[in-house]
Amino acid sequence: MNCNDSTRSFVPYKRIKEECGVFGIYAPGHKAAELIFYGLQALQHRGQESAGIAVSDGENILVFKELGLVSQVFNNQNVVPLQGHIGIGHTRYSTKGRTSWKNSQPIYRMFRNESFAIAHNGNLINVKEIRDEQVAAGIKFETATDTEVIASLIENSKECNMEDAIKDAVSKIKGSYSLVILTGDKLFGIRDPNGFRPLVIGKLDRSYVIASETCALDILDAGFIREVSPGELVIIDGRGLHSQMILPVSRTSMCIFELIYFARPDSYINGKNMFEVRHRMGQELAMESPADADIVISIPDSGTPAAIGFSSASRIPYAEGFIKNRYIGRTFIQPVQEIREIGVRIKLNPLKEIIKGKRLVVVDDSIVRGNTSKKTVKMLYSSGAKEVHLRISSPPLLYPCYYGIDMATMKEFVARQKTVEDIRSFLGVDSLKYLSIDGLARAAGDSSDKFCFACFNGDYPVIIPEGQDYDKFSLEEDKKTVSKV
Ligand code: SF4
Repeated sequence: MNCNDSTRSFVPYKRIKEECGVFGIYAPGHKAAELIFYGLQALQHRGQESAGIAVSDGENILVFKELGLVSQVFNNQNVVPLQGHIGIGHTRYSTKGRTSWKNSQPIYRMFRNESFAIAHNGNLINVKEIRDEQVAAGIKFETATDTEVIASLIENSKECNMEDAIKDAVSKIKGSYSLVILTGDKLFGIRDPNGFRPLVIGKLDRSYVIASETCALDILDAGFIREVSPGELVIIDGRGLHSQMILPVSRTSMCIFELIYFARPDSYINGKNMFEVRHRMGQELAMESPADADIVISIPDSGTPAAIGFSSASRIPYAEGFIKNRYIGRTFIQPVQEIREIGVRIKLNPLKEIIKGKRLVVVDDSIVRGNTSKKTVKMLYSSGAKEVHLRISSPPLLYPCYYGIDMATMKEFVARQKTVEDIRSFLGVDSLKYLSIDGLARAAGDSSDKFCFACFNGDYPVIIPEGQDYDKFSLEEDKKTVSKV
């Protein structure tokens, strides 16, 4: 995008962005593409930039992918030709590379004479050095994604078979990755040794499913078997499901933000339902930071489970304070102030009759830059709120994420620049409190050393190599290494 354009894309309600959703199925006697379509719809919240499906009929792989939502990308015309009983799918939000067709997934490659397709959720932290080595060896790249680097490691592995080539490739990469890989007759699932991103296995009659979240199993009525363990390689083929631990695990560190916000509330992680976990975050918040108020409202939808939890612990009634318009995507508007204000209102409209004259507890899941929160608070006061006590169901965001969440620059975090009292004053609320890291860990219900809290405390579970360029477009700009396609 040209920054001088007078008209530009404007995201009306800036949130931290999800990463990607992956899905795989081995379904003898069934048309995999149709089942993947529904599975991807259940994972749509994890990425809305592009969607893709690759299927195999036991020998040949076909891929169809396009920019857009799953329901926009796929129709009868393009799903019918995707014949085959094994397949993988992907919904993308870019953590490396631009939103372009060539960067969408699954990525198709050849290993020896065998074709394969790969889909990835996560972000590699040593991608630049691997890619530089590969480029120096004469390897060409067609995309600006770290997923292609994994595909390239497999493609160029000296191993004799696909399974060993995958093991060889993942032994070289660092960072976060939940992968599904399709070959002519097999489906593979791999989770990084820290287990940053979720990956689960389900079963439907004789079919096996691998998916980012359990909500994608539910949509097919597939039963949950178990999570793919950190460091595990799962192989599904004509002999059924078999697996091996292929990577040493020194510390597991599931992303705590999956529990706070990313995963769907009806999904289960570590055996725990996400709605209940967020409900407990709200309860912990109420116990840590009570407020004298008439009603509790949420910033929908992500703040709602914690708001209900806050209400139950504080015995302050919960009420719907906003109506959310669920049909808004990107809008293209002039960046002048009056119209920019529409950006928040187009998505959230306060229920004035509920709010007027009330002292409100308002629960949200996080504050990034604070600009959206400021506008939201302003709407509440304009609607007649007497007091606003803002409660955040996570600690202040202070450090960038290198493991697949699009918040790689510290500059934009308001908590880096201001104290909590300064943020309160900036937002114009009567009080502002965040959930503590201890409260968050209690709500998560597992030992805190099982999670990554790095964006709150800077304790990075995988050491970040010095000199890496974490700009999501860094590979895109590296024009020398991108072959023309
Ligand atoms: S740094 Fe934060 S967002 Fe990134 S993986 Fe860790 S907990 Fe998740």
